[in-house]
Amino acid sequence: MDFQPRLDDIQHILTAVLDTPAQLQALPPFAEVDADLMQQVQEEAGKFVASEIAPLQRIGDETGCRFDAGVVTAPPGFRQAYQAFWQGGWPSLACATEDGGQGLPAVLEAVLYEMLSAANHGWTMAPGLLHGAYECLKHHGSEELKARYLGKIATGEWLATMCLTEPHAGSDLGLVRTKATPQGDGYRVSGTKIFISGGEHDLTDNIVHLVLARLPDAPAGPKGLSLFLAPKFLPDGSRNPIVCERIEEKMGLHGSPTCVMRFDDATGWLVGEPNRGLNAMFVMMNAARMHVGLQGIGLLEAAWQKASAYAQERRQMRAPGASGTSLIAEHPAIQRMLDTQRAWIDGGRVLAYRTAVELDIAKHHADATRRESAQRWCSLVTPVLKSAWTHQAFHGGSECLQVFGGHGYVREWGIEQIVRDARVAMIYEGTNEIQAIDLLVRKVLPDGGAALSALLQELTEALDAQQPAQAAVLQRFGAVRDLAAQLSRANAQQAELAYWVADDFLRAVALALLGWAWTRIEAASPVDTAATRWTAPARALKDWILPEFDMRLQIIRGQLERVHPAQA
Ligand SMILES: Cc1cc2nc3c(=O)[nH]c(=O)nc-3n(C[C@H](O)[C@H](O)[C@H](O)COP(=O)(O)OP(=O)(O)OC[C@H]3O[C@@H](n4cnc5c(N)ncnc54)[C@H](O)[C@@H]3O)c2cc1C
Repeated sequence: MDFQPRLDDIQHILTAVLDTPAQLQALPPFAEVDADLMQQVQEEAGKFVASEIAPLQRIGDETGCRFDAGVVTAPPGFRQAYQAFWQGGWPSLACATEDGGQGLPAVLEAVLYEMLSAANHGWTMAPGLLHGAYECLKHHGSEELKARYLGKIATGEWLATMCLTEPHAGSDLGLVRTKATPQGDGYRVSGTKIFISGGEHDLTDNIVHLVLARLPDAPAGPKGLSLFLAPKFLPDGSRNPIVCERIEEKMGLHGSPTCVMRFDDATGWLVGEPNRGLNAMFVMMNAARMHVGLQGIGLLEAAWQKASAYAQERRQMRAPGASGTSLIAEHPAIQRMLDTQRAWIDGGRVLAYRTAVELDIAKHHADATRRESAQRWCSLVTPVLKSAWTHQAFHGGSECLQVFGGHGYVREWGIEQIVRDARVAMIYEGTNEIQAIDLLVRKVLPDGGAALSALLQELTEALDAQQPAQAAVLQRFGAVRDLAAQLSRANAQQAELAYWVADDFLRAVALALLGWAWTRIEAASPVDTAATRWTAPARALKDWILPEFDMRLQIIRGQLERVHPAQA
């Protein structure tokens, strides 16, 4: 069974739960974007994903990419699907009209990428970095570079890469050694990059590499990195000396070539200011992190769809209270696994779509204070989405595999591919450990938790303390605020502590936000009157997911107690 977009669910969250059309229409560029237009775009996107991309899922995994003397060939059908994708205008959905884009809101792009990732993670890696590259070049590129490359990237006619990692420089990009020396109107870039997604392929006629490298007089460490644009083919049509040395054999994601790239005095041009490369690259990395969070949601949806359909067909034993053999879907153990994933997917959508709306508010809102609060949301929620939902895609995907019993472990049903493919999302775009440190050490502790507290305060305003589920959310928010304050105080005495508990802190924030997201779903779709599509996941959230919040609290308090008994 191929993935099928479930547009009713998505539509419900966008309109009834988040009131997205009204929020977007308040922003000048989207005054004309109403609910009908949004629905139309989603329906067309859903058709494209289901008919062109989902059917290539299995062949991408089984045939994989081929490497032959520097030439990389994508699995059969991938190039045609990519050509149809960019010619259909899909990559440019949320790019500005002056750059050849369609000028639509980021949330429509978010929905598209969630569906694409669910349908075919390997194929989706190819366009996955395009929007980040577009934003990076738009904000930091010179007029000349933009004239040459921005339109091609916006439309997706040429694909882009993000060349950061080197054999000795993974999470710590300060160790990057690739060099760039000035020559003529540009630079000569030399060095080796590894793990470069889409470093070489036959999907497009040119590939635009964005490369972190070091100028001759650059200081050591991350503050000595500059960003360069180096295309596979130069403007005069000649081949730039950028060589794919090999592609990796991987656990999953076989449809995406993960390349070792050698830059042999390749011609490149500076993007942004010298030694401010990480700053420029962060624009791209942030967009990419948000996309990886959406990958998590999409992959979990794909796994859930397969497991849920299987559970409605397979009969084993008698479920408690039933007579005769039962569908396995009737067994509480299976219901619990399925409903738990559903709760993560639905709540994740609320947070991810809201993040996409906040991205547009941060850019276009007339009020500076509102733009600031939107930026705060994106900065704090993006690492949470990336980390918690990619974790759930793999671990929850594995639970979905469990629903199939032994049939999940064999290839026939395709669930094992999803689990293998999903694993990498916990690693790339900054490992989940790095996301947790980013949240706690870089974003929460420096201001004593003030920004996080302000974000939670905003969410608190719509909550009713008289309703038990909402009162519980308020309690969790209060506990998160207290923890942030306590950790900030403890940090002054014992800086190491935050690194021990960063993951627990991120999980606590994720669970607090997930609980809040579900109050929004429940407000728009009552779950406790007649049973609806939302009732079982709402119960799973309360019974099987949210108790983890107290466990995380306990772990952090235990560590605080060890460091300084008075702090806990
Ligand atoms: C399929 C695939 C595609 C990729 N695509 C790209 C791409 O397109 N472009 C690109 O540039 N890179 C890409 N990467 C590389 C990816 O971003 C890195 O693998 C990742 O950043 C981690 O670096 P590393 O593998 O060197 O691990 P390391 O940095 O060596 O980390 C090893 C372990 O140590 C932990 N760790 C490291 N430092 C810290 C710290 N300070 N605190 C706590 N824990 C820490 C990590 O979390 C991890 O668990 C890709 C990787 C894969 C597998």
